[in-house]
Amino acid sequence: MQTSIMIYDSKSHQKVDLPCSGEKGDEVKIYACGPTVYNHIHIGNARTFLTFDVIRKWLSYCGYKVTFVQNITDVDDKIINRSIEEGKTPAEIAKIYTKHFIDAMDKFGIDPPDIRPKATEEISSMINLIKKLIDSGHAYVVDGDVYFEVRTDAEYGKLSGRNIDDLQSGARVEVDSRKRDPLDFALWKAAKLGEPSWDSPWGQGRPGWHIECSAMSEKYLGLPIDIHGGGSDLIFPHHENELAQSECGFGCQFAKAWVHSGMLNINEEKMSKSLGNFLLLKDVLESCDPVALRLLMLQTHYRSPLDFSDSRLDEAKSSLDRVKSALSNLKWAVDNFDELDKVNQDSVALNESAHKLEDEDAKNLIAACDAFNIAFIENMNNDFNTAGALGELFSFINICNQMLEKTKVQSLQTITAIIYAQNKIVELLASLGIVIELGSSDDDLPGELLDIAKSLGVYEGDNLADACECILKARANARVNKDWDLSDKIRDELQTLGLIIEDTAQGARVKLA
Ligand code: AMP
Ligand code: ZN
Repeated sequence: MQTSIMIYDSKSHQKVDLPCSGEKGDEVKIYACGPTVYNHIHIGNARTFLTFDVIRKWLSYCGYKVTFVQNITDVDDKIINRSIEEGKTPAEIAKIYTKHFIDAMDKFGIDPPDIRPKATEEISSMINLIKKLIDSGHAYVVDGDVYFEVRTDAEYGKLSGRNIDDLQSGARVEVDSRKRDPLDFALWKAAKLGEPSWDSPWGQGRPGWHIECSAMSEKYLGLPIDIHGGGSDLIFPHHENELAQSECGFGCQFAKAWVHSGMLNINEEKMSKSLGNFLLLKDVLESCDPVALRLLMLQTHYRSPLDFSDSRLDEAKSSLDRVKSALSNLKWAVDNFDELDKVNQDSVALNESAHKLEDEDAKNLIAACDAFNIAFIENMNNDFNTAGALGELFSFINICNQMLEKTKVQSLQTITAIIYAQNKIVELLASLGIVIELGSSDDDLPGELLDIAKSLGVYEGDNLADACECILKARANARVNKDWDLSDKIRDELQTLGLIIEDTAQGARVKLA
């Protein structure tokens, strides 16, 4: 399935057709700047990494072959400073926090990139690019440092929309008499005592920050890449400098479109160590389902600022509960339908039979589901509007709940429609990386149910689901016999285990309170 996808390009400030590559135009090459590994990542970093995870997942869902590269900056001033603080080598610090980063991404459900190059393993590609820049007159050497000369690039500033003269007068650029222009930036830094360094034509040294992404984009994806991006704080100077040095050095367009995600703030304040409102991803995930955090983040469009607060996290947890409860209600209806073997659940057969249904309720659910599918796709294809897509999902979930309420007893036709709706919800949620584990019903049941079943004399075995079923049958019998004392006793005993009994059209079931 390939549909027309529009994406906001932050360089041209407009939505453009999704840029693609390959003979068939079905490949998308994406490079997103990765973390500098000197600390655990915070939830702001996580927001930006999630943006690219969702873009990637959605494009793959739409049938594109995506190659996604994300670097690890494992040599940098911050890593060196941290290594001094912790009495470790910079390589040790980088190794520790790279592992923490990968673990946190995994826990948050973010797929690993296809290629994850590390700056320290790509020094020769960076040296080659720097050589090209010196040879073409865009860079110069001073005392073992190499600088990019911004005034040699007539287009410098085209990404951030700034011009060199404005930048110079307004910027707090440190004065360095060795530079031809205060805005010139380091491509290579001469070695300082105790710092990591490598051989180069200009003596021992290490790369400047910006050069790695240019070298790695070209090496692993070939230029131009289709999409380059990161958080909006990277537009200037990092991406501006990457763009200048790549186009001057390689002599071709660097990236067809630029994607930048908005900043995450906490309680409407910028997240910063000095304000003490710095939240690490690992700490947030300790007390929160990763899916709830994903839902919270995706309920804001990726380009808008995202305000994180405990109350928003609570809201996201309740939204997730609503989705879970709707899905388990649908599953319950399906699992308890006696003639389930009569429904052909193969996706093609189901699609065909669903669109031939004649029962009014069933037909309405199919029509609502198809409308939901179209609206969800339209939102996602319109610059990855996850907030809009999720809004459609919540509306459709309400429709499903109403349908379950209304059709007390399911027929072959309504169950066919319910399975169709259930599959669509699961499929579209998964396209955003939202995977909901409903688990088998006995996963959540407490072991004490066996004692209750035994004391009621209705079950002797050790299967929790069976014990539960027998207890509910005993309660149903008690109600038929108007033995209210017994039915209340069963209800109260379950309540002490944190279980509530829910009477549904298909019979009673227990739920965790
Ligand atoms: P860093 O390790 O600082 O280079 O950051 C890694 C990624 O996180 C970059 O793409 C940054 O733009 C992004 N980032 C940093 N702070 C925030 C924030 N508060 N909100 C969203 N993204 C951020
Ligand atoms: Zn970068």
